[in-house]
Amino acid sequence: MWGYFCLNAILVILIVVVGFYAIVGITLENHARDRVEHAGRDMASTLKKEESANVHDKLLSYRDEGVNLYIFHADGERLQPTDSAGVYDGLYKELNEYLKDSKVGSDKFYRSGNKLNYAIVAENKNGDRIYILSSYSMSIVRETVGALQLWLLFAGGIAMLLALLFSYEFSKHLTRGLNIMSEKAVRLAHGDYEVEFANANYREMAQLSDSLNYVRDEVKKSEDFQREILANTTHDLKTPLTMIKAYASMIMEISGNNPEKRNKHLQVIINESDRLTGLVNDVLSVSKLRSNMETINLSVFDLTGLVYAIVEKFGYLQESQGYTFMIDIQPNLYTYADEEKIYQVLYNLIGNAANYTGADKTVYISLKSNFDGTINEFFVRDTGNGISEEELPEIWNRYYRVKENHPRPVKGTGLGLNIVKAILENHSFVFGVDSEVGKGSEFWVYFPAVPPEVYNEVINSENI
Ligand code: ADP
Repeated sequence: MWGYFCLNAILVILIVVVGFYAIVGITLENHARDRVEHAGRDMASTLKKEESANVHDKLLSYRDEGVNLYIFHADGERLQPTDSAGVYDGLYKELNEYLKDSKVGSDKFYRSGNKLNYAIVAENKNGDRIYILSSYSMSIVRETVGALQLWLLFAGGIAMLLALLFSYEFSKHLTRGLNIMSEKAVRLAHGDYEVEFANANYREMAQLSDSLNYVRDEVKKSEDFQREILANTTHDLKTPLTMIKAYASMIMEISGNNPEKRNKHLQVIINESDRLTGLVNDVLSVSKLRSNMETINLSVFDLTGLVYAIVEKFGYLQESQGYTFMIDIQPNLYTYADEEKIYQVLYNLIGNAANYTGADKTVYISLKSNFDGTINEFFVRDTGNGISEEELPEIWNRYYRVKENHPRPVKGTGLGLNIVKAILENHSFVFGVDSEVGKGSEFWVYFPAVPPEVYNEVINSENI
């Protein structure tokens, strides 16, 4: 990580230094060009009004700024400077070479040695053709850039050192945090649920810590649930098995020859086997739904008929245990869904209502079409203890069971509503529960309505 940080820092510093260096060089060069051009043009316009002998002061003031001006008559006579001796033939030749065919006002930039030159053809007061050369020594610019280069290198070096140090510390800090986290994650994987992920130095790390803490809580919850369900199911499995064994022994030893008793005992065995099957089916359904192995087989079917069939299944409660099922079911309501799974849903919901209803042992079931006939609304209501507001969202979770004393001992796995939820979500159906503590609960599911004509059409086409 440190390597990447360093590379990054070096690249940024290099770009800044090189860029800065280039910008300064170009700016200074442009500035020099402006100066020589400005001096040359200024001199040209002055000479239009003044004698060349009178521009000496101007020449001197430009010289102070580092710009040297030379003025020649086009025939080669040197007009300025007059104060210094020197070899000017070369200068004139060069100028003449560049300007001899140019019109008055034409100009040209050129370099000779380390000098930046600007040459312009002008006219004096008398209308004679003259050449002006404005020259600036670039060695000043070069020296400035050179000095700057040194400073830049120095500053760049220091910046690089600081960047390396900073990135070393930063990466050490970051990797230390990550290492601690991964150590803790390994501990979590080995079942230590006490680990606390805490690293709030950076927002992203804090988010990661929060997510890992959430994962830890969820894994712990799920493990607790599994432990609990294992305890519950083994207990729930043991009771019917003991009963089955006891009643089978009784048939063998006592009631074998008494048909009435034998049948009674056999009925107990059948009921207990049914309970066992229900329990095992619940566990299987959850694991199947969980791994998404089950797909839904959609078809149009008779919802009214299905609800009646399920209520009938609970008939034995009515006959033998004093339950009342108050039903309000509209005829000829059809829907489009997976019939087998909807059976499971309604069976679980009605079963729960019977399990958890109050002392009056009454369950209210209704199935009705809504106002415009697009939805078939199913409701199942009981008069039991109800579910508190905090627990309402939890009851749909796997293995969740409200810890409360029910009027009757209720055996359950805490899987039923989880299966209901998974199935209805797979169908994208709207469903829910309203409950008030002390008054009871009402579970509801909205099924899409299929008009009877469509149902009949489907049935007819299936029969052909
Ligand atoms: P269980 O096998 O325990 O009934 P469910 O998943 O069907 O499992 O239900 C989860 C929990 O929700 C139940 O243990 C119970 O506490 C609560 N519950 C479900 N239906 C009702 C109801 N009609 N009235 C009150 N509580 C209910």
